[in-house]
Amino acid sequence: MTIMSEHWIDLRSDTVTQPSTAMRAAMQAAAVGDDVYGDDPTVNRLQEVTAEMFGFEAALFAPSGTQSNLIALMLHCGRGDEYLVGQDAHTYKYEGGGAAVLGSIQPQPIANQLDGSLALADIAAYIKPDDMHFARTRLLTLENTIGGKVLGPDYMREATRFARARGLATHLDGARICNAAVKQGISMVDAVAGFDSLSVCLSKGLGAPVGSVLCGSKDFIEQGKRWRKMLGGGMRQAGILAAAGLYALEHNVARLADDHVNAARLASGIGEIAGLTVATPQTNIFYVEVPPGACDALRATLARARIRATVGPRTRLVTHLDISAVDVERIIAVFTAFFNDWRAPQ
Ligand SMILES: *Cc1c(COP(=O)(O)O)cnc(C)c1O
Repeated sequence: MTIMSEHWIDLRSDTVTQPSTAMRAAMQAAAVGDDVYGDDPTVNRLQEVTAEMFGFEAALFAPSGTQSNLIALMLHCGRGDEYLVGQDAHTYKYEGGGAAVLGSIQPQPIANQLDGSLALADIAAYIKPDDMHFARTRLLTLENTIGGKVLGPDYMREATRFARARGLATHLDGARICNAAVKQGISMVDAVAGFDSLSVCLSKGLGAPVGSVLCGSKDFIEQGKRWRKMLGGGMRQAGILAAAGLYALEHNVARLADDHVNAARLASGIGEIAGLTVATPQTNIFYVEVPPGACDALRATLARARIRATVGPRTRLVTHLDISAVDVERIIAVFTAFFNDWRAPQ
């Protein structure tokens, strides 16, 4: 097994994928127009295809998942309203506080359960009564997958029903919803059933360079165009980017199963190393507990072997379409060789 290679393996995220030659050819060939005027045929097609694929009336192409989530939050909630959200959720923790800063929307974070879900009892407890002291609770936001974990359709149906019965709207941050659906062997429509709106990332495991799509009712999406413009997301000949998204939806969804297989193999290979605690992956993301004293040396060893990873006491490893089964064996070999030599400082 050769451990050295010219080719860099990047385990930091599935956002690092390079657009393939075929994807670039689709971008090159895309018919375009000014999308702010609604004139871009490729953007329009991406929006129609995505809405249809997930069972919504309409969709809106946005430059990022952060923006498409923010548009959704600003549509569901007004100034002084509140959304219920997981403590570990992207829309709460990793989007710069945008809902509060730009939307005047108060987040009410709720501790995520170990499986990534929010307990219904917690949701009930955090819904505020109609009282002038409180923000108005308007929305429940869930995320699937979350930290690589899949929320099953039973839970999702139960949670959305629970929210609706209490007068709340529901939004799904489905940045990696295709991973969840492929893992469970269910349709995209079934994977998002019950939600009023959905944000899907094209630039994660699906391999497009840029873009997310917000899905919802016709009226919701029509109003969303105003917020998108205000937030700076009105793009012109964006069909060049939408073509990559269409290519991704057509060619890169079913193959997510390969990323899940590669993650499982990587986790079991690294899991055999004494001293490492490795969580069993459900999809393409999992965490490894690395002895804190080993982190600096491991990081350096990986870099010498042309492997990029965000090494820390809780190291996140992510597989994607630019990591092959052969790469996985090389990563396992490098980790194994490192820990054969490494001894915890006495
Ligand atoms: C990446 C991600 C986003 C945001 O997408 P960007 O395009 O990076 O802004 C939102 N939610 C989740 C769960 C993500 O992983």
